[in-house]
Amino acid sequence: MEKNIPAENICCEVEKTSEKNYTPMSPEIVQTSSFYFDNYEDFMSASEDEKNHYVYTRGTNPTTESLEKKIAQLEQGEKCKVFSSGMGAISATLFSLLSQGDHILMVNTVYGEAVSLANDLARFGITADRVDVATTDEVAHHIKPETKIIYFESPSSQKFELLDLEKIVKLSKSKGIYTVIDGTWAGSVFQKPLSHGIDLVVLSLSKYIGGHSDIVGGAVVGTNQLVDLIFEKGHQSLGAVNSPFNSWLAIRGIRTLPVRMNHLSNAIKTVLDAFSLDPRIAKIYHPYCGNSEQKKLAEKYLTGYGSLFAIDLVDEDFDKLKIFVNALEIVSIGVSWGGFESLVLPAYKGNNLENLKNRGLPVSHIRVYLGLEEPTSIIEDFSQALDTAYGKIN
Ligand SMILES: *Cc1c(COP(=O)(O)O)cnc(C)c1O
Repeated sequence: MEKNIPAENICCEVEKTSEKNYTPMSPEIVQTSSFYFDNYEDFMSASEDEKNHYVYTRGTNPTTESLEKKIAQLEQGEKCKVFSSGMGAISATLFSLLSQGDHILMVNTVYGEAVSLANDLARFGITADRVDVATTDEVAHHIKPETKIIYFESPSSQKFELLDLEKIVKLSKSKGIYTVIDGTWAGSVFQKPLSHGIDLVVLSLSKYIGGHSDIVGGAVVGTNQLVDLIFEKGHQSLGAVNSPFNSWLAIRGIRTLPVRMNHLSNAIKTVLDAFSLDPRIAKIYHPYCGNSEQKKLAEKYLTGYGSLFAIDLVDEDFDKLKIFVNALEIVSIGVSWGGFESLVLPAYKGNNLENLKNRGLPVSHIRVYLGLEEPTSIIEDFSQALDTAYGKIN
């Protein structure tokens, strides 16, 4: 035993990784803000190229990096950068790619906060349009000479309509427009947008990838060149950095991701088959229930189904809607999705009727997330709640 080491020095000493002689099954959480350098030369070369060296966790961190490698592989991209939220990834991407005078075109119903952000960019001389198209060909009519990004989801939020990715790529490539897709719905398992030529996939890790309703996180995936640009301009400076612990939780989520997704892809068909026979559900929004055009797109681009969808109940009657939602016993009311728990999120919040009309949604529109409970018990729960609100079907 060495003696006479001051207590303060013992307390702050950290064992070097190279001195450890074990290999944990679960990855290590490198919960540190900063990293040591062995010598001055190492410090200089690391400082010059922070994205490829561990300097400070606002830039890179080993736990976060191992998550980034997994997501890049899942999305078939060269590189991934992880953020502390989906919106962190989306805002960093837009901030990095757009300049004064540029235009961003958002197609169909896009995640609301992303639309708000694009509209807010007007303060910096960037214009935005959000347009609804019935077919992908119509996107061409909305492209302007200054369009720099086409941003979309497929299927879209709220209405869950698919677009033809390859057609959008074709429209964009000749004009030097970046294509950005929010790929959250397919869980990075059922759709590979980069393999169809899309430039960047943005993701919320708060949903399927986290998978347990316990983290908020985001990611962007694409070529080394684009992701490095977003690292320099949008990650380092905007600072939406994921904590190593949340990266570790996301890695934990990914371990069961394909199993959960495959289960949900089957379960959603069981649930939607039952719902489509219920006369009290007027409309279902999900690619599995789409028209022949939507089915063709699903065939081409999806290898399975996400379990987020929407329904319109038959009467546009707020009182019945309220009784129905309150009568659900297994399914809860809540925002977000992608965890264990099935959830409903009514579109009407008491003060947004005008907004719903503008989006072409009835007051009885409800977003539904099918979780990991036994699917027939979810069908039964909906059925008994519909009985309570609308009376039994005979
Ligand atoms: C949740 C969500 C986002 C935003 O992600 P956060 O992690 O909540 O910031 C973006 N797009 C889609 C499709 C989402 O569901």
